[in-house]
Amino acid sequence: RKADIECAMVVIGAGPGGYTAAFRSADLGLDTVLIERYANLGGVCLNVGCIPSKALLHAADVIEQASHASDYGVDFGKPKLNIDKLRSYKDSVVGQLTKGLAGMAKQRKVRMVQGTARFVSANELEVTTADGATQLLRFEQCIIAAGSQPVKLPAFPWDDPRIMDSTDALNLAEVPKKLLVVGGGIIGLEMATVYRALGSDVTVVEFMSQLMPGADADLVKPLAERLKKQGVAVHLKTKVVDAKAQKNGISCNFEGESIPAGKLFDRVLVSVGRSANGGKLDADKAGVAVGERGLIPVDAQMRTNVPHIFAIGDLVGQPMLAHKATHEGKLAAEVAAGEKKEWVARVIPSVAYTDPEIAWVGVTETEAKTKGLKVGVGKFPWAASGRAIGLSRTEGFTKLIFDEDSHRVIGGGIVGVHAGELISEVALAIEMGCEGHDIGHTIHPHPTLGESVGMAAEVYDGSITDLY
Ligand code: FAD
Repeated sequence: RKADIECAMVVIGAGPGGYTAAFRSADLGLDTVLIERYANLGGVCLNVGCIPSKALLHAADVIEQASHASDYGVDFGKPKLNIDKLRSYKDSVVGQLTKGLAGMAKQRKVRMVQGTARFVSANELEVTTADGATQLLRFEQCIIAAGSQPVKLPAFPWDDPRIMDSTDALNLAEVPKKLLVVGGGIIGLEMATVYRALGSDVTVVEFMSQLMPGADADLVKPLAERLKKQGVAVHLKTKVVDAKAQKNGISCNFEGESIPAGKLFDRVLVSVGRSANGGKLDADKAGVAVGERGLIPVDAQMRTNVPHIFAIGDLVGQPMLAHKATHEGKLAAEVAAGEKKEWVARVIPSVAYTDPEIAWVGVTETEAKTKGLKVGVGKFPWAASGRAIGLSRTEGFTKLIFDEDSHRVIGGGIVGVHAGELISEVALAIEMGCEGHDIGHTIHPHPTLGESVGMAAEVYDGSITDLY
């Protein structure tokens, strides 16, 4: 069969990994095609992930700040919610970014093909459009960036619209009176933050013994305490064993910490992780090996076992984060274009945009303990930060983790407002191999929350001893 489209490079999936790879590939002179099943570019992150969730969290933050302003003499009264306007605001934020991407693709002459791609051989893909028509595409090199999707636990009646995954929750159909969030990870807690601020009575159940199990327990504590104060019920070591759709709500039964059997919720958000899309592309027809849970193994250049086919982003493994996908996308395109490079990132930061935010990077204290690493910790409580006191948000702290032999920083964690904006300095310090005094002797502006990074280094160095 004659190919309908021929190209030097084809990228499957236009999420942050895929569009970055396609743009870089075109910039480096490869004739590039980008295949995406949806009309909009941007993938999960722009359309139903990072960006809409942060737009809603911004609204939640404004509500929260306004409701505490009376503490310092300003009273805004009770917030009045116009849910349609809030939804439009979120959609306009997404729209601005996806439109921008379409312009950037056009500028680079990246050919866009809308449809679902499947391999038919090591150099051919079949693309099926929504109306069932197919096109055959022949490529010299390929980057698979088909991402991931929410895990759908079988205990839930998914045909009922009151059972939501993260995409449904971001649609903001209504503000349920009683919301159950199943899974206390980053996504579940961000959405719990949004819905609580909008007026839902929120219950969170988490299977593990701690919320946000990837982060150190001390970082999570200020968030857990604030949620409790706000009236969010958190049940750890608890799982939902069954959920039934009834006329007046979703009735759930639990195993673990006590929640009454058959408790009714108006809506349930299931956020228990994401599964990779690697197994849905007929990759075996190209000879590409797909591992466990739909993940595609790659080498340090993002090549699969078939050297002219690369894979990047969520479908190559954890952490499933946009900034990892974009770096991998750029690298794969550069290698495909002939550059001699490999993946050398030492660390990838994680951020939960909850209230307070939690951000961490590199080795955690828990990990250091498990691996028997000899580490020292410098911790600076925000109760001693003028900026945090002025913001009435002193519950946070900044900690840096150092290798006790080299005194180099190897990890760090921050909890507090804007922690996500502050963690980059720690990531840079780790990448640059900084020792405590390199960070401590760097002059940080006063009064900022960022100062706390310098102070934590000075605590480790012993040059600050009296914090209060
Ligand atoms: P994706 O973004 O998943 O894109 C893959 C694309 O491929 C999709 O557009 C899909 O339609 C397309 N596709 C799949 N199969 C095919 C096929 N066969 N043919 C054609 N097209 C196909 N990460 C962060 O770093 N920060 C955050 O704040 C953050 N917040 C998040 C909030 C939520 C609610 C969610 C769900 C995720 C969040 N993430 C966040 C994770 C982030 O969205 C992902 O890590 C990121 O989108 C992964 O990028 P990707 O390019 O690998 O794949």
